[in-house]
Amino acid sequence: MNCKPYIRAHADELLESLAALVRIPSIEGVPEEHAPFGREPARALHETLALCEKLGFRTGNMDDRVGWCEYGEGEEMVAVLGHLDVVPAGDGWTETEPFSGEIKNGRIYGRGTMDDKGPMVAAIYALAALKDAGFAPSKRIRLLFGTNEETGCGDMSWYVSHDGELPVYGFTPDGEYPIINGEKGILNGTYSRKLHQTGDYRLTKFEGGAASNISPAYAAAELQCPADAASKIAADKVTVTPIEGGIRVEAEGVAVHGSTPELGENAIGRLAMALAQLPLTGELGDCMAFVAERIGMEVHGESLGLAMRDELSGPLTLNLGVAKFEQETLSLVFSVRYPVTLKYELVYPRLSRGFTLGGFTETEMTHAAAIYMPPESELIRRLSKVYEEQTGEKAELKSIGGGTYAKSMPNLVAFGPIFPGDEVREHKPDEYMEIERVLQNAEIIAAAMYELAK
Ligand SMILES: [Zn+2]
Repeated sequence: MNCKPYIRAHADELLESLAALVRIPSIEGVPEEHAPFGREPARALHETLALCEKLGFRTGNMDDRVGWCEYGEGEEMVAVLGHLDVVPAGDGWTETEPFSGEIKNGRIYGRGTMDDKGPMVAAIYALAALKDAGFAPSKRIRLLFGTNEETGCGDMSWYVSHDGELPVYGFTPDGEYPIINGEKGILNGTYSRKLHQTGDYRLTKFEGGAASNISPAYAAAELQCPADAASKIAADKVTVTPIEGGIRVEAEGVAVHGSTPELGENAIGRLAMALAQLPLTGELGDCMAFVAERIGMEVHGESLGLAMRDELSGPLTLNLGVAKFEQETLSLVFSVRYPVTLKYELVYPRLSRGFTLGGFTETEMTHAAAIYMPPESELIRRLSKVYEEQTGEKAELKSIGGGTYAKSMPNLVAFGPIFPGDEVREHKPDEYMEIERVLQNAEIIAAAMYELAK
């Protein structure tokens, strides 16, 4: 089934629809009635569903959080999942206004053109092309539109927990080509320990980092302690300053994304290792020794008993993202990414035991299971075939440490929209998508929907 002529003939209409959607600044806002994530994400959803209806599709809307359009008949359903919310514009736009949808230099500019409105409008026209060609699929094809991917995924988690229909399989054009068939499992959690301080050294401040998924570039502690304490710390990238009744200790690190902590340096770990050089006693001494020795600047959790790896995705990684000391309680927030073929049941107990041994208790934990679709699975075989036929390139399979939208429901992988070697401008100023790439995405998505639903 050749959808290219339809897509090329409707290119102007597709781009106009996309530009209209880009002009809605669908950043998360204050909840309102019929707009749980704020007015603009809801408006983007309503406009998108209106477009789908105009093109002749059935639509559905679950509580203004997730909407869909559907084509074809059949018991089973194949899904294409994407989102209509965007991150804020940020500074540094030089080519166009952030929400212009302006076309120039063969590109369409604006927040969301690549992530993820462009690919989803392409998917809508891809579905229209299949309908126009009279395609009669054996499975229903559903385009699912989320509205809260960027800030908490309160969209798809709602859909799944409120009995939204799950696909037999599908993909999300919210990652990259060729195919991401493996995503590490993610455990984000907080462990805390209350300290009863009795010795000469009293911790009054210990803090660093902003989010579990970023390796912190800076951390600082303050202690009430004897005046000679400053001379007891000697470490690289650590500064000790005398303050009233004690010292301030500051550590530097290198900030990187928490899925690749091995590329950075953890300032919190470095700070704990510096403090552990002091003659701390009692619970403070035990606690700092534990953090320094069992976590420190390790990025694979080796000393916590988490040294695990697989061939497809390499080692487990651990990122200590945030530390806080409030009401005499030290809290550590971290993100663990475990290999794609390993199971939660294996990883979580070890993590838990590791921290319990240090006197910490779990105060928060979220889990997103690893994804691994083997190369011989039907979904991967079919998507590979489509990619190779459409591009003439080999469909290399990738495993990554980051989580994509595919994690939000079972049986999905990330497929597109960014081609290998293309500039990645999502979340950056001057976000754009080449018009040719928008149309190629529509063609590939049409071919993929055909292949999965035929
Ligand atoms: Zn996205």
